Amino acid sequence: MAPQRFPETNNPTELARQLADTELATHVDEFEERSQFPREIVRTLGRAGLLGLPYPAEYGGGGHDYETYLTVLEILATRWLAVAQSVNIHVLSCYPLAAHGTDEQRDRWLGSMLGGEQLGANCISEAEAGSDISAMACRGRAHPDGSAYTLDGAKAWTSHAGQADYYNIFCRTGRAGVRGLSVLLAPATTRGLTTGRPERKMGVRSSPTATVTLDGAEVAADRMIGRPGKGFLIATGLFDRGRLGVAACAVGLATAALDQAVSYARKPRSSGGPAIDSQGLAFLLADLSTQVAAARALVREAARTLDSGVRDSVVTAEAARAKLFATDTAMRVTTDAMQALGAHSAGQDHPAERWMREAKLLQIIEGTNQIQRVVIARSL
Ligand SMILES: Cc1cc2nc3c(=O)[nH]c(=O)nc-3n(C[C@H](O)[C@H](O)[C@H](O)COP(=O)(O)OP(=O)(O)OC[C@H]3O[C@@H](n4cnc5c(N)ncnc54)[C@H](O)[C@@H]3O)c2cc1C
Repeated sequence: MAPQRFPETNNPTELARQLADTELATHVDEFEERSQFPREIVRTLGRAGLLGLPYPAEYGGGGHDYETYLTVLEILATRWLAVAQSVNIHVLSCYPLAAHGTDEQRDRWLGSMLGGEQLGANCISEAEAGSDISAMACRGRAHPDGSAYTLDGAKAWTSHAGQADYYNIFCRTGRAGVRGLSVLLAPATTRGLTTGRPERKMGVRSSPTATVTLDGAEVAADRMIGRPGKGFLIATGLFDRGRLGVAACAVGLATAALDQAVSYARKPRSSGGPAIDSQGLAFLLADLSTQVAAARALVREAARTLDSGVRDSVVTAEAARAKLFATDTAMRVTTDAMQALGAHSAGQDHPAERWMREAKLLQIIEGTNQIQRVVIARSL
């Protein structure tokens, strides 16, 4: 299934386009139908260098800016949202170590992560701590000799659960509230770490999501990323980048739906001209294309802000705006695209109904759109 040769280009967006049109477009339906994770395809993207794009080349990353990386995500999402989301999740899983690890930790682990041989996952949410991570209950108790932490708790809705080679476990090692949170990089082989049955989701079914249970799981203390108590700071940086990733995926999804709707509306019909000749439909499509363009502009602008290295709070607000607007746009565009496509798009053989199901999830993950509004309002 995986191509042995990559398209002849060093340009990541061109590479993404070619892989999206070949590998992704041809396999999406069967994997979504079977709710099967396309590990080989994700591995192929890793070999092509697409799983470490925004990280330093000295550790095996692509050394590209965030704007380029988000453009790649957008392109992948036009063909297969779950795979684009996998890239987003894996790239995020490298962030704590890349940005907050010590040189020694980076030398030990980062290379195999950025190359994609090791697949990552992020365990932040819990059943009672989704929007409010200060309520996190999963505990990490330090051994008296300081050699390790023992983890107990359950992390809900973990993407890549059961497929990942390592998990960033966010847990409470100190006092109540966000200042008591830390993050440990736990190998999937950690004794006491188990993954549950994948959730039967309405969309992105080929991306496994499950609970990760920690039952006396021991993780060596040298696997703590950043100092104890830095977990919230690290989670904030991860959310900013994750929200931009989700926003880029949303733009890709909306673009796919819009393109299908426009091409269907332009088809000649036996009775009269194409449907797009009627102003009612033409204006609907004009509005959708304006929204997609605006969403893309917000995402790119936020990416450039991140790339410019300005202070974190500015990035946080811009990432929240981009996530809010782009995912609401994807919901609207996928819904209205079905209207423009008519009855035949309601069947499961047409991707339009899948796109609608997927868009709904984008309004929830990486912080719901209500939470994005809370973040934006606080920044005003
Ligand atoms: C497909 C999928 C993949 C996921 N992958 C991961 C993953 O890899 N790792 C991970 O850690 N998590 C993951 N999640 C979890 C996701 O991040 C959470 O679902 C999300 O943060 C919302 O939390 P919740 O579902 O517990 O909702 P809740 O926090 O229970 O919220 C319920 C409702 O209340 C609203 N609400 C809550 N607080 C406020 C407030 N202060 N103001 C206004 N409204 C509020 C919310 O907007 C929502 O409408 C995933 C979820 C899904 C669906």
